[in-house]
Amino acid sequence: MGDSFFYEHNTFTKLKRKIFTNLLPIFILSFLIILLLLIKDDAMDTINIITFFILLIGLTFCFLLLFLNKELFRYIEIIICFIASFIYIFRVFNTILIDLGVAGNVQLGSVAYWSPIVYILLFFTFRGSKAYQISWLIYAITLIPGIYHIFLSDSRSIPTLDALIQFYIANLGVIISLFYLQRVLETYLQAEASQQLAYTDYLTSLPNRRKMDALLHQEIKRARKEVTAVSAILFDVDYFKKVNDRYGHDVGDSVLRELTYLINGSLEEADHFGRWGGEEFLIIAVNKNLNNGAALAERLRTVVENHKFDTVGFLTCSFGVSELNDHDLAKDLLKRADIAMYQAKETGRNRIVTQ
Ligand code: GH3
Ligand code: MG
Ligand code: MG
Repeated sequence: MGDSFFYEHNTFTKLKRKIFTNLLPIFILSFLIILLLLIKDDAMDTINIITFFILLIGLTFCFLLLFLNKELFRYIEIIICFIASFIYIFRVFNTILIDLGVAGNVQLGSVAYWSPIVYILLFFTFRGSKAYQISWLIYAITLIPGIYHIFLSDSRSIPTLDALIQFYIANLGVIISLFYLQRVLETYLQAEASQQLAYTDYLTSLPNRRKMDALLHQEIKRARKEVTAVSAILFDVDYFKKVNDRYGHDVGDSVLRELTYLINGSLEEADHFGRWGGEEFLIIAVNKNLNNGAALAERLRTVVENHKFDTVGFLTCSFGVSELNDHDLAKDLLKRADIAMYQAKETGRNRIVTQ
């Protein structure tokens, strides 16, 4: 899957959008305040005013785009990254070449505070190895004024060298830490995605048998604790083999997907619907006793019966319904639903049998 996986991961993009939506107004407001303070100040620090003015315009523009067009998010983060990197590099040059060592100034000041933010932004925006490369590039560029100061500047002193060395070593630490941190997060997200795959049916995207089994155990536990009912509805497409024989396996697959869509649209949020195997499906009907389960099954039976499927036309399903008894295990509940479904088949199909 490589490191691209991490950056294309949906959860991660959503998270980033959230962070941007929350952080941008704070940054914009702070920069506006700083800018107003600077303009009010008689000293008129031109470099600072230009920096904050560009930041303010750029970030406000990005913030507006974030709401106007969600598709633009990718461009917005790249623009923000670009603006931040550009200003950061500019400020590093400015601070080291012009301010450092002059009039007893031996600190790097605000560039030192902001450098981690710039590298974090890069790792947020670009995939691991790319962010790593861009970070090194920026690091290398910011080394230039430092090297100049160390070897050629007249204002060099032990304290300025100390400040510079600490700055460069700290940035080194930030870049390397971010690289490994990003690796850890990526591994975590990959594990989460693999688990998702292991529990999802490939054809219908429904929870698969393994997942349904886990959900059933969970719901039984809950029902016992809260003293509520749970029912199992097992259903199977009638004469499905004929569909395959007549129209081919691909059409059979489409029918299963269409059926999934149809049933999904007719269920309550709390109920669990999964593929039990082949053309057989299971519904865990939460908070429903045998009567409620049967009523739901009847409703679904009618929905299927009245639906005209693409290519194949009308189809029916047979349903078996069972309710959790006091001493039932999951397998007992399923066994009864299975027997009931078998009876529905035996007694003419397109019907519901309860057990
Ligand atoms: P009944 O009414 O007794 O259920 O008859 P049936 O023909 O539906 O039952 P049978 O068990 O004989 O056939 C089920 C068929 O479902 C056989 C199998 O090839 C097909 N099937 C199972 N899984 C899939 C699938 O994922 N895709 C397709 N296209 N067919 C599948
Ligand atoms: Mg069948
Ligand atoms: Mg079957």
